[in-house]
Amino acid sequence: MHLEGQATNREEMPARMIRHHFTVDVEEYFHAAALEPWVSPHEWGSRESRVDESTDVLLKLLDEAAVRGTFFVLGWLAERRPGLIRRIAAGGHEIASHGWAHRRVETLHPLDFRESIRRSKRCLEDLCGEEVVGYRAPNFSIGPHQHWALDILMEEGYLYDSSVFPVRRPGYGYPGAPRDPAWVKRPGGAILEFPPATLRVMGVNLPAGGGAYFRTLPEGLVHRAFEGAQRRRVPGTFYIHPWELDTGQRILAETPLVRLRHYRGLGRTEGRLRRLLGTFGFRSIRETVSENELQPAIRTSRIPEGLENRPGLPSRPGRPGLR
Ligand SMILES: [Zn+2]
Repeated sequence: MHLEGQATNREEMPARMIRHHFTVDVEEYFHAAALEPWVSPHEWGSRESRVDESTDVLLKLLDEAAVRGTFFVLGWLAERRPGLIRRIAAGGHEIASHGWAHRRVETLHPLDFRESIRRSKRCLEDLCGEEVVGYRAPNFSIGPHQHWALDILMEEGYLYDSSVFPVRRPGYGYPGAPRDPAWVKRPGGAILEFPPATLRVMGVNLPAGGGAYFRTLPEGLVHRAFEGAQRRRVPGTFYIHPWELDTGQRILAETPLVRLRHYRGLGRTEGRLRRLLGTFGFRSIRETVSENELQPAIRTSRIPEGLENRPGLPSRPGRPGLR
């Protein structure tokens, strides 16, 4: 099965006007995917909260660059740090959903997924007074076997998703999915997909659009991913987490993989962000979605049959995400 889509209006968008997407997954350092095996959700409530300070650094950087971004907020966190979410919204940034309890989509039964995106949407809308229209799954966990999640997102009133990472990586990724923003047609309608920026090298997509790749790859490679999107006249999507600026966080695990994915390069993040923001134009995904020129694509029948209908629902798995 393949995820295909209709590329959005690239011919209508001159390169000089391209503004990429600056996105933040708002969660605590102990929610991070690399630490999942070491921190049980039952311990979350007793851990030190550090998200305010590093999010404020991000807000200041964005303010200095006059950029409004998209903040995908974890519902669990919004319930505990309402002042932080209001502060982000007051800065003119888009508030979107990162689900409720940071569980990967492949570990959720569709009923639990629906509850997670419904509950977080409601909570965030109550806090910021604006409709929440975007979603990003923890660990970009909508892959070839989670198309049903796109259907549920549409049914629950989401207009776009940013959970499909068109790369091949152990444990995640969706090789063959579109690299650029695309409409994805499903039996019940269409949803916009905004994948993180990638580099294409010898026919293979390589991740370069944020997170650990942003901290550990040569800076020029990350910039090349956005230059490439600019040449293709589409916005690229950048992502970062507040904890990636937090050099004072307690070390929770010390395997080589965790050191690489979670702790390496934390001290570089702020400088690299300044240079990224100084080099490219950015805005929120909502701004792109609400642009007039995107609207005709919704109305026309040019949207291709992108995904096969998947009859039935997957059986309810155990809870491997909760360890
Ligand atoms: Zn996350």
